Amino acid sequence: MKSVALHTLGCKLNYSETSTLAKQFEDKGMKLSNYGEKSDIFVLNTCSVTDNADKECRQIIRSVLRNNPETYVIVTGCYAQLQPGEIAGIEGVDLILGSKEKLRLFEYLEDVESPSCIFKEPESKIFVSEVGGKDDEIKGAFSADIDSRTRAFLKIQDGCDYGCSFCTIPMARGVSRSLPLNEVVDNAKKIIDSGYKEIILTGVNTGDYRYIAEGKTNKLIDVLLELEKLEIERVRISSIEPNLLTDEVISLVKSSDKICNHFHIPLQSGDADILKLMRRRYNLGFFRELIEKVIVEIPDVGVGIDVIIGFPGETDENFKNTYDFLNSLQISYLHVFSYSERKNTLAVTMSGKVDIAKRKQRSETLRNLSAKKKYDFYSRFIGTKQKVLFENRVMNSGGTDYIEGWTNNYVRVRINNDVSLQNGISEVVLNNLNGIKSVESLISK
Ligand code: SF4
Repeated sequence: MKSVALHTLGCKLNYSETSTLAKQFEDKGMKLSNYGEKSDIFVLNTCSVTDNADKECRQIIRSVLRNNPETYVIVTGCYAQLQPGEIAGIEGVDLILGSKEKLRLFEYLEDVESPSCIFKEPESKIFVSEVGGKDDEIKGAFSADIDSRTRAFLKIQDGCDYGCSFCTIPMARGVSRSLPLNEVVDNAKKIIDSGYKEIILTGVNTGDYRYIAEGKTNKLIDVLLELEKLEIERVRISSIEPNLLTDEVISLVKSSDKICNHFHIPLQSGDADILKLMRRRYNLGFFRELIEKVIVEIPDVGVGIDVIIGFPGETDENFKNTYDFLNSLQISYLHVFSYSERKNTLAVTMSGKVDIAKRKQRSETLRNLSAKKKYDFYSRFIGTKQKVLFENRVMNSGGTDYIEGWTNNYVRVRINNDVSLQNGISEVVLNNLNGIKSVESLISK
């Protein structure tokens, strides 16, 4: 039996798509190998969000080929869409597939029914077509969360119509397209039938879900209302643009036992001038009001924020404004990204490049702020009873065995290993902060 190893870089959407590819390989009778093991085929689903992501893709391809020169290498994803020539320059890459071609991979492998006939190509074959107009097909995808069967990512949307000045994603994935609501529900049912307890809705711009059927435009709220009717324990929205987080969604999250009290909202900059240069679709006043409203409506809500530091022209004062703005908000954690120059974006043409050392320093400062926010947020729940969906076993450096899980509002909880708790929701008292990163909990049912 021929074997295939797949590896994913980047966003949850990529993870869901890689999982779908893995299922397709299994259906063709191939054995799935772990990344790092020798295999007959290797598939890398790439990301291109930063320069580092591109570099990591190249390093992975070279390292796989060093250890296994005979493996048939397929590279797809955003980096393949945007820079196929760079990838083709790496000796040993056989097939490069763009975004549209990704989930039609088998159309580009000869003799699909007999993968034993796959031989290395004398030179890279490239199939990259222009991405996505409105009428372009969108293929559904869903996946397991890394190696557990606890949480699954469900793709409901792809592409983006926004024009943030630093971002290449619309070039790599096309305009916003949404999966028909009935297909979303069908895929959700398959996830539930496989035993998953939590569905995480993903897309490039998930909040922009819009699908017109029978004269009605279905939006994210309609997806949530449909999923709420299913036999699923939890539904989580992976990330939502602030201008798309509607009152309807907030009040459904407030009233629902299934939709998680957790929002991940990209801010990107807390300085008004930089935010304008980024071409985001809101201002700071709107953002503050939104966060305050969410917290008043849902007091225990977990709120994570994306922020980019080192955008062209960001002075010490601009950065301080961002710091102060974030510090003043009652949020639970930050995801901090260092600005990375991307070809063909507006931002790359802007003056005022911030030097790399300064970008590192600013990232560090915001990561410390994030740790403080997380500590404050987690502390509020010490001594309280929370429902935790337990998933992975983890081993710490001292060799102690734990199970980790998440509360509805995204507090990470650890408990001493008890396999009976895996892939289930248990009510536990959170009784001990374990450093800043996690809450260690001793069970007291
Ligand atoms: S909203 Fe902005 S940052 Fe997000 S994918 Fe669209 S263009 Fe990129």
